[in-house]
Amino acid sequence: MSAQPEREIWFLTGSQGLYGDDTLAQVAEQSREISAMLSEGLRTRARIVWKPVLTDAAAIRRACVEANAADHCVGLIAWMHTFSPAKMWIAGLDALTKPLLHLHTQANRQLPWSTIDMDFMNLNQAAHGDREFGYVQSRLGVARKTVAGHVSDPGVVRRIDAWARAACGRAELATLKLARFGDNMRDVAVTEGDKVEAQLRLGVSVNTYGVNDLVAVVDAVDEAAVTSLVERYEDEYRIAPELRAGGERHDSLRYAARIEAGLRAFLEDGGFRAFTTNFEDLGGLRQLPGLAVQRLMADGYGFGGEGDWKTSLLLRTLKVASEGLSGGTSFMEDYTYHLVPGEELILGAHMLEVCPTIAAGTPSCEIHPLGIGGREDPVRLVFDAEPGPAVVVGLADMGDRFRLVANTVDVVQAPQPLPKLPVARAVWRPDPDLTTSTESWLTAGAPHHTVLTSALGTEELEDLAEMLHVELAVIDSDTTVRGFTRELRWNQAYHRLAQGL
Ligand code: MN
Repeated sequence: MSAQPEREIWFLTGSQGLYGDDTLAQVAEQSREISAMLSEGLRTRARIVWKPVLTDAAAIRRACVEANAADHCVGLIAWMHTFSPAKMWIAGLDALTKPLLHLHTQANRQLPWSTIDMDFMNLNQAAHGDREFGYVQSRLGVARKTVAGHVSDPGVVRRIDAWARAACGRAELATLKLARFGDNMRDVAVTEGDKVEAQLRLGVSVNTYGVNDLVAVVDAVDEAAVTSLVERYEDEYRIAPELRAGGERHDSLRYAARIEAGLRAFLEDGGFRAFTTNFEDLGGLRQLPGLAVQRLMADGYGFGGEGDWKTSLLLRTLKVASEGLSGGTSFMEDYTYHLVPGEELILGAHMLEVCPTIAAGTPSCEIHPLGIGGREDPVRLVFDAEPGPAVVVGLADMGDRFRLVANTVDVVQAPQPLPKLPVARAVWRPDPDLTTSTESWLTAGAPHHTVLTSALGTEELEDLAEMLHVELAVIDSDTTVRGFTRELRWNQAYHRLAQGL
């Protein structure tokens, strides 16, 4: 994938002119220190950029409109070190279109009890300065995340990191181009959706290409490029003997490599970072793309099967949000259940396309028949997912809005080996239990295609939903079906009202 754009988070400090130059110089110095501490703690690729202390309405408005216009600025952190009369913030906040985090902190952690005087009191006023700022944000209905605590606290930094990651995901989504090869699988409801609304609400541009446009690029890939890809496969995976050079099905591996090279070139040339395929519409492709899709996902591309562009855009967004974190993020589908009482599990997989970033160990590259699509046997990577905590997320179009549903889960080792299953898979135990999880999921109308991420938690998703003004319903260890059903009803009312606000 081509180089990622630069990402910045602007650090704004509020104050006012009344304090005089000496105090304002101290405010600036301390806010630089807080900003530097934060910079050091954050693990996101976005860089913190400290901005001069804001003391009047014109400067505040200018900072906000400059943030709107700066492509590399993904969000703003604002802290009222001293008292910043908040009518000065109205024009700026009203104009602001970038995500906002209100940091409620203080330069000092400890009060100097024996030496504290009025100079100290006047310098360290976030306790009331930030309340004034909170009021005006609520009065204006500004969507934001509020984080309270000292910046030396790792918990505070972690929460800001989650928000920064969501902001990077949102920025990616705002300019994302998604290529669909063919349309949706015929007659399927949940993979449909309003692409105009998606572009308006989320920014993503979703367009369809004839699959034979891709086939032409695949056919034009030269043999040397195919050979060099096959060599990489040999380095990275355990290759089935029949697929190896000299093996009777080596040509199938070479054709899979040809698909990868062609697909990659098509996406690079068009600036696409997400795509979909559909086994019903393969044109001149000899295999359903399996290995190619898996490797492109591992490189950060979004993907959805059966024309599912909503899951594809969600996957790309969460890939960006999770950059640099351990764990993986993949396209996933709830496939089948283990319903033995007390041992309930979900087995997730897809026809072929599961991302190897979630693999435990080295994937095995294999070829097996695919009973659907009517093409040659496709090459794919087969593996088990690494056990550990994860979140499963789905995006549905409810007609008048988008709804995200997330379920916290534990990916576990399968109770027994699955020697006959020729696809990559994940086995998980959903919170709080399979019955509550699935009854809640179905009540929400959430999809069977999802993104499974072991890199992100629910906090990043909550922050992302807030930034996008998209509903998010979370199923976790506290969920009851009754409470969740009520939450959906309230959400329905809220989101319909909020559209008119
Ligand atoms: Mn599917």
